[in-house]
Amino acid sequence: MPGQGQEVVVGLDNGGTAINATVLDSAGRFLVDRLVETPSRVAEGPGVAIEALAESFAQVLALTGVAPESVQAVGLDTPGPASADGVISTRGAVNFVDPAWRGFDVRSALEDRLGLPVIYNNDANAASLYAHDAHFGPGSGQHSSVSLIVGTGLGGGVIERGRVVRGAAGMAGEFGHMRIPLDGLLAEGQPTPVCNCGLAGDGESVASLTGIEKNLLPYWLSRFPDHDLHAVGSAHKAAILVRGYASAGDPMALEIFRQQAIALGRLFTVAANLTDPDAYFLGGGVVEAAPRFRDWFLATIREHTDLRSEQLPRATFAVVPDLDMAGARGAAIAGSDALGWAPPELPGR
Ligand SMILES: [Zn+2]
Repeated sequence: MPGQGQEVVVGLDNGGTAINATVLDSAGRFLVDRLVETPSRVAEGPGVAIEALAESFAQVLALTGVAPESVQAVGLDTPGPASADGVISTRGAVNFVDPAWRGFDVRSALEDRLGLPVIYNNDANAASLYAHDAHFGPGSGQHSSVSLIVGTGLGGGVIERGRVVRGAAGMAGEFGHMRIPLDGLLAEGQPTPVCNCGLAGDGESVASLTGIEKNLLPYWLSRFPDHDLHAVGSAHKAAILVRGYASAGDPMALEIFRQQAIALGRLFTVAANLTDPDAYFLGGGVVEAAPRFRDWFLATIREHTDLRSEQLPRATFAVVPDLDMAGARGAAIAGSDALGWAPPELPGR
């Protein structure tokens, strides 16, 4: 049986609708090469969701033929905001709407349920760690990187010498809620974008699906009175469709993504002056878009990342690979790091 008799770490990526699970052995091999998903049931509250995590844990072990006694630790990630040790924000979080989640210690609850050490990261940090290790391979401990992950919100992660920078309260790398200069980004007469967090003109107010829905699309539709998207009843549905239009070369949709690319470039410029990383990674649905559009988007981000001449020859721009598995794999790597195991056997590029 594969993996039998070996020590392993299980990685669990706990999302709004699904849990994705993986297994990493002490030799640095992932024993799962595809999505292994089960329902997360987070909307039913913490009690049901912890049982769902335990079920996912048992299922991925059964799938890989690994005995439960071989598991040395569990890496867990959830969407933020949450503390560095896995306490969901007292203000609640997107996808964790049941009031019982507020201030809930998801890491300790899973640790008690499974009787195993649980190492926690927020989902953006976990995906950032995987992007870093997948890119640098065996040399990951000698390099630094920054990731921006565009989804419903804008997640970010900072990796320094192969380790996640969590910060004192777990809030490091929250690029989505850093304010960016808006000169040269907004069009004539365009209102200042506002974020769900209350800030005006932060990264997420522009570079997220929510930013498209609430800020960018309403303005750009007013500039394109004959656009098809006027006919879509729901603003949320229309926002989801914008990427497809941009991939097909639609001028309005490209204006929206150009503004997002400028915002992302300005956030990477902050990173360039903060940790001066070797690599800048972009994640999110856009990574899976048509290659021509994706390459244009990445090139536009790069064009708006203001690097010094000393930084230019060293800096790499790339996409977060295996995006649907990146969270679970990153969570597992964080677990194996905590046990002092060598970095996973990833080829690097
Ligand atoms: Zn914000």
